Amino acid sequence: METVMEQGSQRRHHVVVVGAGFGGLFATKALRKAPVDVTLINATTYHLFQPLLYQVATGILSQGEIAPPIREVLKRQDNVDVRLGTVTGIDVAARTVSVDAPGLDYTVGYDTLIVAAGASQSYFGNDQFADFAPGMKSIDDALELRARIFGAFELADLQTDPEAIERYLTFVVVGAGPTGVEMAGQIAELAHRTLPGQYKHIDPRKARILLVDALPAVLNTFGDHLSTRALRQLHLLGVEVELETRVVGVDATGIEVETKRGHQRIPSMTKMWAAGVSAPPLARKLGEAAGVETDRAGRVHVNPDCSLPGHPEIFAVGDMMALDETPGQQLPGVAQVAIQSGQYAAGQVRRRLAGQPAGKPFKYFDKGSLATISRFSAVASIGKLRLSGFVGWTIWLVVHLLYLVGFKNRVSAVMHWAVSFLGRGRSERVSTFQQAFARSAVRAYGDPWERGRADDRS
Ligand SMILES: Cc1cc2nc3c(=O)[nH]c(=O)nc-3n(C[C@H](O)[C@H](O)[C@H](O)COP(=O)(O)OP(=O)(O)OC[C@H]3O[C@@H](n4cnc5c(N)ncnc54)[C@H](O)[C@@H]3O)c2cc1C
Repeated sequence: METVMEQGSQRRHHVVVVGAGFGGLFATKALRKAPVDVTLINATTYHLFQPLLYQVATGILSQGEIAPPIREVLKRQDNVDVRLGTVTGIDVAARTVSVDAPGLDYTVGYDTLIVAAGASQSYFGNDQFADFAPGMKSIDDALELRARIFGAFELADLQTDPEAIERYLTFVVVGAGPTGVEMAGQIAELAHRTLPGQYKHIDPRKARILLVDALPAVLNTFGDHLSTRALRQLHLLGVEVELETRVVGVDATGIEVETKRGHQRIPSMTKMWAAGVSAPPLARKLGEAAGVETDRAGRVHVNPDCSLPGHPEIFAVGDMMALDETPGQQLPGVAQVAIQSGQYAAGQVRRRLAGQPAGKPFKYFDKGSLATISRFSAVASIGKLRLSGFVGWTIWLVVHLLYLVGFKNRVSAVMHWAVSFLGRGRSERVSTFQQAFARSAVRAYGDPWERGRADDRS
């Protein structure tokens, strides 16, 4: 491993941005005309539009459409240097960050640091569930789920035992927030619209799709009216919704739940987890390095201007910041909070460099919430407006097109949406051998590549 020290001789004010998600990317863009040099460090080479991950998992969109290369997005911004790597440590005294990249460690110095490392999946202390119920946070997760979902129909078609067929055709989605509702709705559409007629030995319409949540309502944050509408729509699609149901166990062949009726085991080969989030490991490291507290979810407490107490040169924005504009009420982990806080932090940097007084505290402007349930059906909560059905879906379509990054991606997403929403098809059903032998299979049967090599040797 080589260690590289960089940026020691920066002449202009040097801003290091960690994370190229919504917070980091929009902060970087907002510094385009500022008299600064920006180093943007991200663990992957692409910016990820997480709200459409479920469409990659269910074969509607390709991964490229929601994950444009960061370099391409920023190619016209001369003052930014895009660097691949995972930030593993922050030295607030020396003002440096340490970065791990494949085959290379390096250190970058900063004058201002903006950290926007997002959130991680939380299994509420049951990390062992992850092998059997992948979350939905990354392209890897979405592709693994795609392989598992389409693979389950394939494997069901090969079974002769009715119980095994049922186990393969039972899909359990844990968590009835927007992601869980969208996943369940899309699997139901696959089973009822896309796949019928394509198998000789099973009827995909017999698939059971269960959506479970410990809370008493779906889309809990959308309010009673839209929650009831979403529930009705899910029932129409054939999704079984089990509320006030707590998941207490997940393994390769099923899921264990506690309900008001008692303990129950649901045999199912395909489970997915859309139930909780926690701050990423870097949030804890940042809190410890800067002597700042983190909240129960591990998010870093910030000042009203998104900077860290005692460290005006460090900002934490987006999902990993804990900021209660209204006492006792944390800002939600949504894209608009990340975008607006990233832009706000960049604005503070510009003001300081221009010798202007600090601006007003960060104020989140809530543009509303959207969730799709199936094609032509979504719910939208915008200010006092509560919309559902086709009107809600049209708003969903326009908003997602507007925020999808990159013109090419918008054009090809529209074409793929036409295939799925106007027709019955799914353009992206391919999964690779690696994805098909994903986590739990590798655990259960060993690494297929290793086995292949062993077979070659024998
Ligand atoms: C499945 C799903 C669906 C969602 N749907 C919606 C929706 O419909 N509407 C909505 O408003 N919000 C939605 N969200 C939430 C929204 O995506 C997040 O609030 C938003 O992405 C947060 O932006 P961020 O910049 O804080 O973090 P992210 O967008 O998560 O970006 C964090 C970035 O930091 C990088 N990173 C992490 N750790 C490190 C490190 N140590 N070093 C270097 N880089 C690092 C990551 O690779 C990533 O690029 C959804 C989220 C998910 C997961």
